[in-house]
Amino acid sequence: GGVLDRLRLSAKGFKLDRPVVHAVNGVSFKIARGEIMALVGESGCGKSTVAKTIARIYKPTRGAVKVDGEDIANHGFAEMLPVRAKMQMIFQDPYASLNPRQRVRDIVAEPLLEQTKNAADRKGVAAKTEALLAKVGLNAEHAGRYPHQFSGGQRQRIGIARALSVTPGLIIADEPVSALDVSIQAQILNLMMDLRDEFGLAYLFISHDLSVVNHIADRVGVMYLGFMVENAPRDVLFAKPRHPYTRALLSAAPSIKEKRDVEEITLSGEVPSALELPSGCCFRTRCPFAWERCARERPLLRDVGDDQTVACHLVDEPERDKIR
Ligand code: SF4
Ligand code: MG
Repeated sequence: GGVLDRLRLSAKGFKLDRPVVHAVNGVSFKIARGEIMALVGESGCGKSTVAKTIARIYKPTRGAVKVDGEDIANHGFAEMLPVRAKMQMIFQDPYASLNPRQRVRDIVAEPLLEQTKNAADRKGVAAKTEALLAKVGLNAEHAGRYPHQFSGGQRQRIGIARALSVTPGLIIADEPVSALDVSIQAQILNLMMDLRDEFGLAYLFISHDLSVVNHIADRVGVMYLGFMVENAPRDVLFAKPRHPYTRALLSAAPSIKEKRDVEEITLSGEVPSALELPSGCCFRTRCPFAWERCARERPLLRDVGDDQTVACHLVDEPERDKIR
C-alpha cells in the first residue's frame, strides 16, 4: 500500500450559474503517516469540499492537490488508479455509498480487484475479503448478504473494510459517524483508531461534532467560509484556542468545556454567502473583536508556537483581545 507522507491542497472553486465561487480558498495542510487530522466547522464552511477534492470526486478549477508530492488535480481515471491504492474514502451514509444489489464480499473486494490485474493474484482476493471482514468485526457468514440486511453501524464497518482492502495510507472520512446512534459512534471511532494503530493509517476526518473530534483527532483544522482559520494539535487547540471563531465553537460545545480556559464567545448573525465574501477577514461580520484593520487586510495563517497556526490580526495586536 501507499505511504502518504505529505498532502497539500490549494484552491478549489466550482461554478454556479455565473459567478465562480471559490468554495475553498488556499487551504493548505499536511497529514503525517498515522495521523488523524480533523476538519471542523459549521455546514457550508467547505470541509466536505476539501475532502471530496482530495478524493478527486470534485475536480479543482485551479490549484493543486498533492499526494506524496504528486499533483493529482488534473488526473484522469487511469492516472487515478494508483492513487486510489493510496487513499480511499468512507461516507456519512454507508447505505447510499454501498451498491444495494451487490453482496458484501463483492462490495469489499471491488477496490482490490480494480488494483489486481493478474489472475494469480485474484485467487487470494476471497481469503483477503474474509480477513478484512474479521478485522472490522464482521464474519464470513456476512460475506454473502446484501447491505439492507445490516444495521447502520455494520454498514459503516463494511465501508471501512472496503476502504481498507487496498491497504491505503490515507482514509478520507466525511462525517462517518454522524448518522449513527451515540453508542454505535464510539464503537466505530474506536475501530478506526485500532486500525490506525495496526496499519499506520492516516485519516482526514470531517466532522461538525467537537466531542467526536475530541475522541479521535490528533490534529484539528478549523474552517470558516472556505478558509482555514486555525490548525493545531487537538490538545493545544482545545486548551488554548486563539481564533475567535474557534473560541466560539468551543463555547457552544458543553461536553468539552472543562478542557478549555477561555471565556464565552457567543456568535450573532449569519454566515455570509460565499458569493459575497467580506473584504479582509472572512469572519469579521460575526467577530466581536473586529476593528478597521480586519475589513482592510485578510489575515494569513501564522505560526504562534506549539505547532499552532492562526489567521487573525489579534495575534499581533493582542491588547485588542480585551476590547469588545
Ligand atoms: Fe476577528 Fe479581526 Fe481576528 Fe478576523 S482578524 S477573527 S475580524 S479579530
Ligand atoms: Mg458536509
